[in-house]
Amino acid sequence: MSEPLFNKIALVGIGLIGSSLARVIRERNLAGTIAIASRSAETLSRARELALGDVYADSSAEAVREADLVIVSVPVGASGQVARDIADSLKPGAIVSDVGSTKKSVIEQMQPALPQSAHFIPGHPVAGTEHSGPDSGFSTLFDGRWCILTPLPGTDADALAALIGFWRACGSMVDRMDPDHHDLVLAIVSHLPQIIAYNIVGTADDLETVTKSEVIKYSASGFRDFTRLAASDPTMWRDVCLNNKDAILEMLSRFSEDLSSLQRAIRWGDGDKLFDLFSRTRQIRRSIIEAGQDVDAPNFGRHAAAEGQEGAE
Ligand code: NAP
Repeated sequence: MSEPLFNKIALVGIGLIGSSLARVIRERNLAGTIAIASRSAETLSRARELALGDVYADSSAEAVREADLVIVSVPVGASGQVARDIADSLKPGAIVSDVGSTKKSVIEQMQPALPQSAHFIPGHPVAGTEHSGPDSGFSTLFDGRWCILTPLPGTDADALAALIGFWRACGSMVDRMDPDHHDLVLAIVSHLPQIIAYNIVGTADDLETVTKSEVIKYSASGFRDFTRLAASDPTMWRDVCLNNKDAILEMLSRFSEDLSSLQRAIRWGDGDKLFDLFSRTRQIRRSIIEAGQDVDAPNFGRHAAAEGQEGAE
C-alpha cells in the first residue's frame, strides 16, 4: 500500500460531511491516523461504534495536536468558536480547512483566531444529502463532485497543492474561487432552492382549504421533491441563512421580481412567455446531465417499484 498523504488528519465535527471524510480517508489510506472530535459525547461515542477513526478526543484542541491537516465540519455559525478552541494546539505548518456552505463569514470568524504558523485554506465540497449525523456519511459522497477552495491572498503554494491533492484523492474535482463570488454562486444554486423548498412546504402546511392528508397523499405530483430539501438539518440551514444574508437577499429579490413576471404571464394568459421560459429551463436540466452532475433516469432514478405505486397525476 502506498504512503498516506498525511500522517495525521483531525476531523472536528463528525456529522454527514465529517463522517464521509473519515470513511473515504480510511478507505483510500489518506492518513496514518484519523483523530475525531465532536461537540457531544453521544456523537463521539457513535463515531467510535462506527469505527470512523483511530483516536476519539474529548476536545477539538486535543484532536488537532500534531495533526498535519485539520478539517472543521460544523455548522458555519460555530466555526469561529472552533477556531478559537484549536488555535493554541495547532502544530506549526498544519493546514486548517473547513467545509462550510458559506465562505466570507467563515473566513471572518476563523482567520483572526488562527495562528500565522498554520495554513488556513477555506473550502466547500458541493456535495451532500438531506441527512445528518455520523450514520449518514458514505465514502463516495465526494466522487465526481466539485470542491471549491477559496484561498486567501498569500496562501502557501505547497499547502494549497497538498489540500487540492487531498480533495482529488477523496474523488472531488477542485475549483478555486474568490469567497464573495462563492457566496453569490451558492446563493442561487443551493441556498435559494433550499429557502424556496422551506417556504413551499411551510405554505402547504399552513393551508386551510387543502388538508394535510391530501398534501401527503398527492405529493408525487411535484411537492415531494421539495420535501426532500425541506427535510435538511435546521441548524445548518439557519446558519447558512444568517451567514450569507447579503447574497441570499440579493438573489431573493431577483427571484421575487421574476416570480411577479411569471404571475403576470399566467394572469394575462401569455402562453408564449410561459412556453419560452419552460423551454429554456428544460435546457438547463439537459446541461446538468451532460456535465455529469445528475443522471438522466426519469424521476431522478427513483425506484421503479415505488413508481408503480405512485400513480399518475
Ligand atoms: P451534521 O451532520 O449536522 O454534523 C454537524 C457536526 O457539527 C456534528 O459533529 C456536531 O456535533 C457538530 N456541531 C453542531 N453544532 C456545533 C456547535 N455549535 N459547535 C461545535 N460543533 C457543533 O452537519 P453536516 O451536514 O456534516 O454539515 C457540516 C458542515 O458542512 C456545515 O457547515 C455545512 O454548511 C457544510 N456542508 C453541508 C452539506 C450538506 O449537504 N449537509 C454539504 C456541504 C457542506 P454534535 O453532534 O456532537 O453536537
